[in-house]
Amino acid sequence: MVEFVIPPFPPSSVPVAGGGLFPVRRIFCVGRNYADHAREMGADPDREPPFFFAKPADALLVGGADMPYPPQTANLHYEMELVVAIGRAGTDIAEADALQHVWGYAAGLDMTRRDLQNAAKKEGKPWDMGKGFDHSAPIGELIPAARLPEPDHGLIELRVNGAVKQSSDLGKMIWNVAETIACLSRLVRLAPGDLIFTGTPEGVGPVVRGDVLEGTIEGVGQVKTRIA
Ligand code: MN
Repeated sequence: MVEFVIPPFPPSSVPVAGGGLFPVRRIFCVGRNYADHAREMGADPDREPPFFFAKPADALLVGGADMPYPPQTANLHYEMELVVAIGRAGTDIAEADALQHVWGYAAGLDMTRRDLQNAAKKEGKPWDMGKGFDHSAPIGELIPAARLPEPDHGLIELRVNGAVKQSSDLGKMIWNVAETIACLSRLVRLAPGDLIFTGTPEGVGPVVRGDVLEGTIEGVGQVKTRIA
């Protein structure tokens, strides 16, 4: 038997409400999925096809742990998002079948080094270092889809130090969960363990050390972290 040449590492995972761990394989994120957020970023939200970027699986931050302020930025932003966890593999998934591939849902934060992302955009370079850095994906407990109706509407809100910064409704997503899964599955084969961050509503902004971020999605759950 061929052996690993360094110790193999356990998968990243998300705690499930009620017990257990959901192992995470990949993290995909949707860009500009709420019209008012697309506008605040200077883009035209006229239902351009969804586009995707990724974070490494080990960017997850669970259990309400502190998020260390990341290096090489002076403009760390929050983006409050609904997260979909995939439980069944598929390619070219039809919209009508898409929700059967969902294992569960969670509230998450797509933390962003906005200065690095903006510089990359301007120069036509990749977003990876603006988006996919260490601890850039705080996430709350996963709620099994079996216990939840499809979250196609409901308040999505983020508070910083108790003040509401983002407040919208899941119904305002340009591409809903089923459409997003269908689109992404035409680009890659979705597999159990994949997470999809489905995009943020308007109101993104900067945080500094000491700030406490509390996100809530009606019917889904919460995510919490403190910038350390
Ligand atoms: Mn985002």
